[in-house]
Amino acid sequence: MTKEAMDTLVYHGEKVEFGNLINLICHRISEFPKTGLNVGIYLDRTPALVAAVNACLITGNTYIPLDPDHPAERINMILEDVKPDLILTHGHYLSKLPSDSVKIDVDSLSSDESVPEPVSREFCQDRESIAYIIFTSGSTGKPKGVMIPRPAMDNFLDSMAKKPGLTANDRLLAVTTVSFDISVLEIFLPIRTGAQLFLLDKNESHDPDSIISALDSYDITVMQATPVTWRMLIDAGWKGKDNLKVLCGGEALTPELAEELLDRCGELWNMYGPTETTVWSTIEKVERDKPISIGEPIDNTEIYILDENMNKVLHGVEGDLFIGGKGLAAGYFKRPDLTEKVFIPNPFTPGETIYKTGDLVRYMADGRLECLGRSDFQVKIRGFRIELGEIESALLTLDEIASAVVHPQVVRKGMKDLVAYLIERKPVEERVLVEHLSRILPDYMIPAYFVRLDKFLLNTNGKIDRKNLPLPQVKEIVLEGNGDDLSLKEKILFVWKRVLQREDISTDQNFFEIGGNSILAVQLLREIGEFCGLTVPLGAFFMNPVIDDMINQAKSGSDKEMTVLLLNNTTEGVPLFCLGGIDIYSELAACFEGERPVYGVFLPYEEQLIDNIQRGTIDEWEYVSIQGMAGAYLRDIRKYYPQGPCHILGVSIAGMIAFEASKLIKANEGARGELFILDSHLPHARRLTPFGKIYSALRSLKHRSGKPGEPKNKLNPDQAYIEAMRDFINDQAIEVFDKVATPIDGDIYLIRALTNVYSKGESFSDDLGWNDLTSGQVGILELPDDHMGILNQPHVVKLADFLKEKIDR
Ligand code: AMP
Repeated sequence: MTKEAMDTLVYHGEKVEFGNLINLICHRISEFPKTGLNVGIYLDRTPALVAAVNACLITGNTYIPLDPDHPAERINMILEDVKPDLILTHGHYLSKLPSDSVKIDVDSLSSDESVPEPVSREFCQDRESIAYIIFTSGSTGKPKGVMIPRPAMDNFLDSMAKKPGLTANDRLLAVTTVSFDISVLEIFLPIRTGAQLFLLDKNESHDPDSIISALDSYDITVMQATPVTWRMLIDAGWKGKDNLKVLCGGEALTPELAEELLDRCGELWNMYGPTETTVWSTIEKVERDKPISIGEPIDNTEIYILDENMNKVLHGVEGDLFIGGKGLAAGYFKRPDLTEKVFIPNPFTPGETIYKTGDLVRYMADGRLECLGRSDFQVKIRGFRIELGEIESALLTLDEIASAVVHPQVVRKGMKDLVAYLIERKPVEERVLVEHLSRILPDYMIPAYFVRLDKFLLNTNGKIDRKNLPLPQVKEIVLEGNGDDLSLKEKILFVWKRVLQREDISTDQNFFEIGGNSILAVQLLREIGEFCGLTVPLGAFFMNPVIDDMINQAKSGSDKEMTVLLLNNTTEGVPLFCLGGIDIYSELAACFEGERPVYGVFLPYEEQLIDNIQRGTIDEWEYVSIQGMAGAYLRDIRKYYPQGPCHILGVSIAGMIAFEASKLIKANEGARGELFILDSHLPHARRLTPFGKIYSALRSLKHRSGKPGEPKNKLNPDQAYIEAMRDFINDQAIEVFDKVATPIDGDIYLIRALTNVYSKGESFSDDLGWNDLTSGQVGILELPDDHMGILNQPHVVKLADFLKEKIDR
């Protein structure tokens, strides 16, 4: 294995060295007096995540992935269960985690100056230690933690390195979340074999176009994914790659998908295995025109097909699949009852244990294994393992629900969805049900349909007859005419209805709570592109999957209804909100691509003011004071980023608004992010020569005589009027702000445009007056361009570097 490959991965197109971060994390973890620590991993999909899980294993500790996208209640349930000794996280998640937990902000480590001596890169060889605990759906309503011992993980990796095989010449694309155990292959196998790892971030790994382009541009030779992801790539037009080894597993591989994949790759492997037996337990190289099989056991793994009396079935007869060998989990975390039920003594080899998978299988005539389905209520929906009982338990926590059955059904063509069948004590709206479930369950466990029944039909065994549960009604939504007469809003609404196959959609509903899922999201955005001529980045859609937001974002940056727009494709990390404009910040946002979200925020207050004056509903404070405007801006920002400190930037008057907004954030959150003020001049810092004073008086007289006149059309004030009004309001607001503003706690960063056009006889102090408004320092960056020029190339790169340095400080 080459040291080079071991310590680097490719992320956002760049080689990232993460060995130093591993060292830093190892050293911090080693400060704890013991090993065998349970370490929570609450991290975004970045190189830091790869460094963190490696550091856990090197130091002989256990990593426990926690998905920041899962609802807080679910994460807390796991944290209460595990009580981790420490949690590795990012600074922006600190406030989301329990205050009494021990947390390490890995970002603060990476900017640490002191580089400790490198630690040994060998994984701890303590054969008893647990490598990871992965939580999976639990039938009684609580997720259960599967504990995988180090030897099980080592055995799995060694076996995979041989077959399907990975060498130092390979380039592997990692797309799977670490809370799904198949990520173990993607993260650790390249490191073990010296192959180069290419890590996609969260949005990229959901987006077929990003995956397709990564496969080609990085010349990837191995990628592993669930059937649903491969299907998504094919549907998105992926043409394939001759030298690609496709690993497909986690759910049944259909013959159709196998054919389509074989047409597009060098090798196709069907991988089978439950989390409880360490990722994959049987594998098969798929050949054309041969029935699909889950193949043969991997190294040091035994399989048994048994009947209900634990006797081996005859060749070709269906039975329960049991797995034994080195891959077996050490059981479920703190759940001896559950462990005992499925990890049972091996009736054929005393002293050993076998795991009851719940899968029904049989030997085919040629001796290979065929998977026939499940014998229990565990299902796979889009690759996610779900115990139906967990959703049913969550529904029953509502008093209005007397009985609940959740069952997978094919309602929409080619797609398996969860349907909840309910007997209600009192009617509950679907919205209430969804809201309730989303607090407890991840998106993929929220049923797409809710069907109310008076009673459940029973089968001859007296059990609920799941096979004959009625299918929910869906509607084929068709377009009358060619759609040319529809407004943009009507067009978007139509596409939503067609994709979700339902009429009852209101424009404030969340796509993922009314039957939408990641596959449909890709389809939706493609259709919105084709039918509405609108490009909506998948990442931005995941952040705001609501029609109203989509319509607002659909309008151009100059549209007056627009307030907040994500300007890059990045959704992870503490955002930077740039106030006072949208388009003007797009080049700056591009410099932060893949690092943090950058939003443009524009509050069309001049127009709202005019409108409110005309209606007589004016809130003077809000419109004519900087503080009031800051409150209004912050209200809009909070729709996108409900809580927590964030970084704020503003140019010109928006710099002052940013200043007040930053104070409000500190007051509400107890901390603020960094504050950047771009070329914003405080009147009190203005110096005038005697001539300058006369000149300035003349200008202001001229200005007054040109005060805003009556709008030509009351409902549609013309642009000149709006601009005059804006100057007028802004001048008033700045004058008052300059007199009443009180200092902010901590530092301010000021970016000065050096080619400012000042009036005759006018000059400003270097800090533009901001030293008087801070208890800390004013850090100044000077750029040789004007007001707006500093936001464009070439200066924007320097500006972005300055911002990054201060934010990472
Ligand atoms: P998980 O623990 O999430 O890996 O899910 C394990 C279950 O997924 C297995 O017990 C099977 O029911 C199903 N499964 C995984 N891989 C395959 C496969 N290649 N073919 C059929 N079913 C599979």
